[in-house]
Amino acid sequence: MSETHAKTAATNAIEHFQLYINGEYLPAKSGKTFMTADPFSTENWAEIPDAGTEDIDAAVTAARQALKGPWGAMSGFQRAKLIRRLGELIDENAEYLARMEVRDSGKLYREMIFQLKYLPEWFNYFAGLTDKLEGKTIPTDKNNFFVYTQRQPVGVVAAITPWNAPMMLMAMKLAPALAAGCTFVIKPSEHAPASTLAFGRFVKEAGIPDGVFNVVTGLDRNLGAHLAAHPGVNKVVFTGSTATGRAVAQAAGSQLNGVVLELGGKSPQIVFEDSDPEAVANGVIAGIFAAGGQTCMAGSRLIIHRSLMDDVVNRIVARANTIKVGDPQAADTEMGPISNKPQFDRISEFLESAKSEGATILTGGVDANKQGWFINPTVITDVNPEMRVVKEEIFGPVLCVMPFDTEEEAIELANNTEYGLAGSVWTMNIQRAHRVAHKLNAGTVWVNSYRAVSPSVPFGGFGSSGLGRENGVESILDFLETKSVWIELTGATRDPFRMA
Ligand code: NAD
Repeated sequence: MSETHAKTAATNAIEHFQLYINGEYLPAKSGKTFMTADPFSTENWAEIPDAGTEDIDAAVTAARQALKGPWGAMSGFQRAKLIRRLGELIDENAEYLARMEVRDSGKLYREMIFQLKYLPEWFNYFAGLTDKLEGKTIPTDKNNFFVYTQRQPVGVVAAITPWNAPMMLMAMKLAPALAAGCTFVIKPSEHAPASTLAFGRFVKEAGIPDGVFNVVTGLDRNLGAHLAAHPGVNKVVFTGSTATGRAVAQAAGSQLNGVVLELGGKSPQIVFEDSDPEAVANGVIAGIFAAGGQTCMAGSRLIIHRSLMDDVVNRIVARANTIKVGDPQAADTEMGPISNKPQFDRISEFLESAKSEGATILTGGVDANKQGWFINPTVITDVNPEMRVVKEEIFGPVLCVMPFDTEEEAIELANNTEYGLAGSVWTMNIQRAHRVAHKLNAGTVWVNSYRAVSPSVPFGGFGSSGLGRENGVESILDFLETKSVWIELTGATRDPFRMA
């Protein structure tokens, strides 16, 4: 392992991290720091640099310079080797990074180790594209020209990520950006910044030149705004809430830069009367209680045929009551704490609003017996589409249940949302499965399943859930410019006053 460490020392159990700029670990120019808390103990565990706009400027300058250095001169074949090596290093250090994610975000170790072990697939998949970024030769109506296109890296990519899965959401951006030959400046969430800072050393160890990958952290949310509007940036890729996504799009627009936005969701799980109740109950639990519901794709609205509702809801409630909620580092824990205090307060407010609007909380709610920020798996019935808990993204372990009688009604309820990230259809009828999947306004539809992703399958949202797609072959195009090259073949002179 490299001598350059993110974690410089451990004093009084507090771990210390530094910015990663131009291949070096550095303090913020101001010398300021802030603390992040472990959501299980609610105690501070890490000291993080509190960067200012001057640190963002330094990172963008480093990334611009790196485009002109050895990285910019490399062939796709050479880049592929380094990107694959980075994937191997993630695999070798998966436990280290997973434990750090758990400390910072409260996600389960059993989930994060799986996620970290899976991440190399993103680097392998996109490394496989680096040497296939082909242009075209294009016939035109002008016989005296030979025309071809070339793919070139878009330049400096600014990535802004949320707290719920820092490494995975970074990998979905970094792997295609590196494959395209871009350089990268990332600003992770102020609530879970540690693993992204720690990651820098693996980029260096993989042999990727200095300046290609840079990390800046800070408490001030305007830091992200400064990065998104930076004149030295060429592309902005963002995952986070819809409100922030709109601000990021405006900031990027001020520089006429393209954006990819992966935003919030309020995803439906539609259950038809011919489904297997046990399989459905299990799938619904995976969709809403895995990761404590703190995932963009959480299946937070159960839209279920009236004839099956009591049976399935009873099974879900029974299982919800046995979910082992507790220490996210323990192997048998099934749900950890809510990642941070503001999010815990937000979910608590949603539960209060549900009660005041007349909904019934069948099980769950705030767990006052634990020290950390815990909300137990919550199931809410007697809701209507106008209630806040049904309309707004909660981003927590809260399921709203709505019955339907006809297929049309189910589709209408499912599409009655500004979001369109994901959804599922549970049925044994293959025609209905396809018919309903085609009608859902969602970027991803699972049939008889939930929460499956792959580096090769496009992921993103309709409506307020985002703009563009991550993953899949085409996502690399977001990091490439197309250049058309016209070669005149005859050397003949032409009328200079008309278009050729
Ligand atoms: P958030 O929008 O509050 O913050 C996301 C990031 O943006 C953070 O790094 C934050 O510091 C930064 N930021 C804040 N203000 C900014 C500004 N004005 N300009 C630029 N950057 C700014 O989101 P969060 O609370 O960290 O994450 C939860 C949200 O993320 C949920 O809405 C969830 O649905 C969404 N999410 C979406 C996906 C997806 O793939 N669609 C995946 C995970 C999470």
